[in-house]
Amino acid sequence: VEEADEDERLRREAIAAYHGVWVFVEQTEGEPARVSWELMGVGAQLAQSLQTELCAVVIGENVEHLCHEAFAHGASKAYLLDQPVFRHYRTEAYLEACCTLIGTYQPEIVLMGATGMGRDLAGAVATRVKTGLTADCTGLDVDDRRNLRQTRPAFGGNIMATIMCDRFRPQMATVRPHVMPLPERQAGATGEIVREEIPLAEADILTKVLEIIRDKKAGEVDIAGAEFIVSGGRGMMAKENFGMLQELADELGGVVGASRSAVDAGWMPHERQVGQTGKTVRPKIYIACGISGAIQHLVGMQDSDLVIAINRDREAPIFDVATYGIVGDLFQIVPAITSQLKQL
Ligand code: FAD
Repeated sequence: VEEADEDERLRREAIAAYHGVWVFVEQTEGEPARVSWELMGVGAQLAQSLQTELCAVVIGENVEHLCHEAFAHGASKAYLLDQPVFRHYRTEAYLEACCTLIGTYQPEIVLMGATGMGRDLAGAVATRVKTGLTADCTGLDVDDRRNLRQTRPAFGGNIMATIMCDRFRPQMATVRPHVMPLPERQAGATGEIVREEIPLAEADILTKVLEIIRDKKAGEVDIAGAEFIVSGGRGMMAKENFGMLQELADELGGVVGASRSAVDAGWMPHERQVGQTGKTVRPKIYIACGISGAIQHLVGMQDSDLVIAINRDREAPIFDVATYGIVGDLFQIVPAITSQLKQL
């Protein structure tokens, strides 16, 4: 017992210097990524439980406006590194910036979006500051020992794992876009801006950005931000049949999504895939047509406000997460719904 007490005393001593929940505000050319504000929502809850402050980390060039946006989303303090060398995201520069801030101010928790940038940066930072990192968390809360309980799907989505970083600080996690709800924006909220500058010159950075080529072609849809999604699975039987889903989506002002089976069959492009290896979506209405409801699909859509499932197998697991279930042949039901909507 004495040994355990001593162990706990040493642990508490080691973590005592760390304070604050930090959210990295991801931006590209001054445009913030929505996931940063989603993280502010969960960050505020964590900060409240730990009775500490919620801080934003803003790195870039001419990005002070993002500090004010962070205050509007719940932060009370923003660490700002505004220098030409941070104009474009480059791992070396941002790594240096984050690690300098972490070394100086010692945050208890650091959260980043599980985006291309966040995944790259979080891994590099965790390695440099010698702490743990849990990627793609779907749930975050704290226990009474100030440990961050980081929940994420594991083993192909068959179990939910809760991971903790007991002795090391900061505790770091990434969260995918659209997993956490967006907090309400409080216009005019204010906070403290802590300006920092680090001695980093362009010549110190090996990577040069020559040109930015946007991958989103004109007219391409973003299923992650859509309010209405009509998704098709293997039950659609063929690529041509997705036209029927498009017609229904058009009536609703929404977009067409797909299960991995439909994507693997070449019926839909990968950017339309919903699920663990696709996108996480949180629309107002999600209509699943001919989708069985495998766990890897469910983790990507189960937080939708309302789910309507159409499946001819009444035992299909998709009905477990559905608000409304229709047992029957989708080839009859989908056109019937579309024609009813057209009459409204
Ligand atoms: P099926 O499971 O074959 O279901 C087809 C359904 O259509 C059945 O329920 C059937 O009853 C119904 N149906 C057939 N005809 C009709 C009809 N005429 N009318 C009504 N209903 C009909 N899957 C994803 O979706 N997204 C992911 O991101 C993803 N990631 C994965 C990651 C890993 C590591 C692994 C191992 C798997 C992943 N999967 C993912 C695959 C997943 O396990 C399932 O295989 C997949 O979701 C099944 O797709 P489906 O529901 O379209 O097909």
